[in-house]
Amino acid sequence: MENINLRDVRSRVDEPPWLRPRAAYVHIPFCAHKCGYCDFASLAGADHLADRYLDALERETARKLVEPREVDTIFIGGGTPTRLDVRQLERLATMIRRWLPLAEGGEWTVEANPGTLDADKADVLASAGVNRVSLGAQSFQPRLLAALERNHAPEEVGRAVEIVRNRFPRWSLDLIFGVPGSTLEDWRADLEATLALGPSHLSCYGLVYEKGTALWKQLQKGEVAPVVEEVEREMYELVMDRLASRGLELYEISNYARPGHESRHNLVYWANDAYWGLGLGAAEYVDGERTVNTRDMQGYLRRIEADEPAIGPREHLEPEERARETAMLMLRRTQVGLDRADFRLRTGFDLDAMFGPVIGRFVGEGLLEDDGRRIRLTREGRFLADRVLCEFV
Ligand code: SF4
Repeated sequence: MENINLRDVRSRVDEPPWLRPRAAYVHIPFCAHKCGYCDFASLAGADHLADRYLDALERETARKLVEPREVDTIFIGGGTPTRLDVRQLERLATMIRRWLPLAEGGEWTVEANPGTLDADKADVLASAGVNRVSLGAQSFQPRLLAALERNHAPEEVGRAVEIVRNRFPRWSLDLIFGVPGSTLEDWRADLEATLALGPSHLSCYGLVYEKGTALWKQLQKGEVAPVVEEVEREMYELVMDRLASRGLELYEISNYARPGHESRHNLVYWANDAYWGLGLGAAEYVDGERTVNTRDMQGYLRRIEADEPAIGPREHLEPEERARETAMLMLRRTQVGLDRADFRLRTGFDLDAMFGPVIGRFVGEGLLEDDGRRIRLTREGRFLADRVLCEFV
């Protein structure tokens, strides 16, 4: 008699991942200080609230999940999760293992700041089952780190990488280009310093002046000047080519990996699959409904402690809206792109009936390529990705 794998049987009867979450995001908002460009739900000087926050997080988790939910990916982001002390990290890991057991072969990522990661904290995370660390390096040049108001020193990145590479099978670095006052040569130097560390995954974002941030205010007052568009384009060109020459292929507009080292958790977002979101300001997408928790710490704590949900307005997506969003997100994936059959399976809509004229126009302009099976951004299209993607929503 043929052997029946129970896991296969169960996955066949399970709902697909765009309806039932197989991923979870957990937010830890504490930071040593607020970086000038930061628009995340992060707080400096609030460490005294960490234990109370972990109580609330566990309560929110129990209330939302009701029972333990097996997931394929977990991402603990922030803020700075490694701002928690060893005891608090142990507590967080125990809570996650209880409520969000990781499926065999699953990916569990923790974001870390080079200045707050030490061997003891890394040991706690590794022994709990964390198998991927994402380190916020941003730059290796003191004056650019100062412009971003980052409070770690360049040499701390190398030290953090040494801690990480001995304990975790996978790790990634985040870099930012287009920092005010930076040149193409600065960016080249940052890339070389990064490559010397031997990462298998990199996230490289162009700086965005988010409204309300300290850097945005400096821009408004004329205290800083943005890098000119042409240079920023050259920076993007340089990172794509240099990383590709070292086997780190672009797989999303801003993400590069050796084959098999892509961030599985972020691929969930770009496939528009469902995910749980827990903690301050955390976004969640379950049963076609998007919710975002409040970003107000006192409000979050009070509401959770009163046994109320901490979510802000709900957004229920109609099937067509969800399909549009799915197309836009999938197009971010530069290798896989937007596959016609996959799109139909996930949304029930025909891609060409919905977007035929838009696709035709961008193919004509050389910004999209269409091989009959799927649509992808061309190299030129990646530079103008915002313009292309917004036409799909
Ligand atoms: S460390 Fe990250 S989350 Fe914290 S303030 Fe800086 S950019 Fe924001």
